[in-house]
Amino acid sequence: MRLFQTIAGLRIYLSQQRPQKRVGFVPTMGALHQGHRSLIEQARRENELVVVSIFVNPLQFGPTEDLEKYPRLLEQDCQICEDLGVDVVFAPTPETLGIDSGDQTQTMVIPPESLTRNLCATFRPGHFPGVATIVSKLFNIIQPEIAYFGEKDAQQLAIIRCLVKDLSFPVEIKGCPTSREESGLALSSRNQYLSEAEKSSALALFESLQLAQKAFVQGTKTRQALLNLVQQHLDLTDEINVQYIDLVDPQTLSPLEEVTETGLLAIAAYVGSTRLIDNILLRNRQPIIAIDGPAGAGKSTVTRLVAKELNLLYLDTGAMYRALAWLVRQSGLALTDEAGIAELVSQANLALIPQPYPQATRVKINGEDVTEAIRTPEVTSLVSAIAAQKTVREVLLQIQQSYGKKGGLVAEGRDIGTKVFPDAEVKIFLTATVQERARRRLADFQAQGKTDIRLEDLEREIAQRDQQDSTRAIAPLVKAADAIEIQTDGLSIPEVTSKIVQLYLS
Ligand code: AMP
Repeated sequence: MRLFQTIAGLRIYLSQQRPQKRVGFVPTMGALHQGHRSLIEQARRENELVVVSIFVNPLQFGPTEDLEKYPRLLEQDCQICEDLGVDVVFAPTPETLGIDSGDQTQTMVIPPESLTRNLCATFRPGHFPGVATIVSKLFNIIQPEIAYFGEKDAQQLAIIRCLVKDLSFPVEIKGCPTSREESGLALSSRNQYLSEAEKSSALALFESLQLAQKAFVQGTKTRQALLNLVQQHLDLTDEINVQYIDLVDPQTLSPLEEVTETGLLAIAAYVGSTRLIDNILLRNRQPIIAIDGPAGAGKSTVTRLVAKELNLLYLDTGAMYRALAWLVRQSGLALTDEAGIAELVSQANLALIPQPYPQATRVKINGEDVTEAIRTPEVTSLVSAIAAQKTVREVLLQIQQSYGKKGGLVAEGRDIGTKVFPDAEVKIFLTATVQERARRRLADFQAQGKTDIRLEDLEREIAQRDQQDSTRAIAPLVKAADAIEIQTDGLSIPEVTSKIVQLYLS
C-alpha cells in the first residue's frame, strides 16, 4: 500500500496506473470503523485500484464544532486500509491540499438552496458547501470511476449526487447501507465521545426509526403520524435532545406530506454533548427480484418463468440492448464510432410494453415498434459489442431504474443486482460449472441438428467468456455481496424457478 500526502505524489502514481485500472474512491475523515470498512470492502470488490482519502476537512466544520477534538488516528487507519487491501491512502494536510479555511480566498462549491434548506444544513450552515468543495477537489485530483458514500449521511449523499450531475463529473456515485452495532446504533467516528450510559440512551434513535418503519409497513404513510411516532419514542429518553425529525424525498430532500414511493425519515439529536444522526428509507414499492450470473446459466428462461409464476413484470433488459443495437445499425454508424453512438443513444426514446407470458415484450424506439426487427440475426450479432459501450450502459441504467421505481418486477442481466437495482429485495446469482454450461449448449446445438461441435471447444469458449466478462472495464461480472448463489448443475429449469419463487415468498 502507498501513502501519499501531496497532490503531486498521488497524481503521478495514479497516472502511471491508468488507463488499465478502474479506480474506486472512498473519501473519509479517518478514525475508521466498520462503516468505513464496508465502503472500502465494496470498493475493493468492484475496482482494480482502491484509493481511500483521510482528511479532516476544516471547510466543513462550523466555528463552534469539534474540528480540534475530531479523532485523528492516521497510523491505525493506515493499518486498517492495508489489511483491507487498499492500494493508496491519500492523507494530505490542509496545506498540501491548498485549503485555506481562514481568509475566505478559497473557491467554494455551493450546493443548491433546495438541498440545503432543511435537515442538517439548517443547523450546520456552511457544512455542505465545505463538503461539496472538498469532494469536488478530491474528484479532480483522483478522477475515480466510482466513489462510495454512506447512506447514513443521507443529505450529503443527495448533495453529492446532485453535484456530480450538475457539474458533469465523470464519476458514478454509489450509496452504501448504514453499518450498525449489534444494538442497532449507527456506527460513527463520533461514537467515541459517548459514555456507556450515553451509548445506551442513543439506542433510542434507531429504535424510534424502526417503530416508524413497522407502522409504515402496516399502513401509516402520513408525515404527521410518522413524525409523532418517532418523537414520542425519543421523548421517553431524557438524555436525548432532538434537533430535528423530518420526512423528505430522498433525492430532492423536499418535505413529504405522505410517502407515495420512497421517503427518507431522518433524525439529528444530541446525546450529552455529542450530535448524532440516523435515518431510514421507507419504501412504498413492490419488491424487486434481480438475477445476475455468468453467460449460459439460464438467466433469461428462468427470469421469464419467475415473472409468470409470481405475476410480476418481466423487465426485458435484453430487448433494450437489442433495440439500441437495432438503432445503431439503422443509423449506419460504425461500431468503432463510440462518440457518434453515444450521441445517438443519449437522445433515443425507448419504451417497453410488457405482454403476458410467453409473448415477447413489445419494444418501441423513437415511436417505431421494433419488436420483431430486434430479433434478426443481424441485430443479434451486434448486441454484445453495443452493450460493451459505456454510454449504452448509462442510458439503459437510467431507463431500467425508472421502471424499478414502482417495483413488482423481475429482471436479469450481468449487473442487475450490483448496479441497476442494488436495493432489490431478492438478489440471485445464478451459476453453473463451465462443464455443465457446455453440456447444455451442446444439447441445444444437437437439438438444432448441429452435430459437429465438440464439448471441449465449448468448455474452452465458455471459460474464456467468463474470464473476459469478469475483467472487462464496463459492467464486469461481479457477484453482489448480498446475492444468494444458486448452483444449477443437475437442477431442471422448473426446479431453479421454484427455488427463486420460494425465496421471494419467504
Ligand atoms: P466520515 O469519515 O464520517 O466523513 O465518513 C466517510 C464516509 O463513510 C461517508 O460516506 C459516510 O457516509 C460513511 N459512513 C460513516 N458512517 C457510516 C456507517 N455507519 N455506515 C456506512 N457508511 C458510513
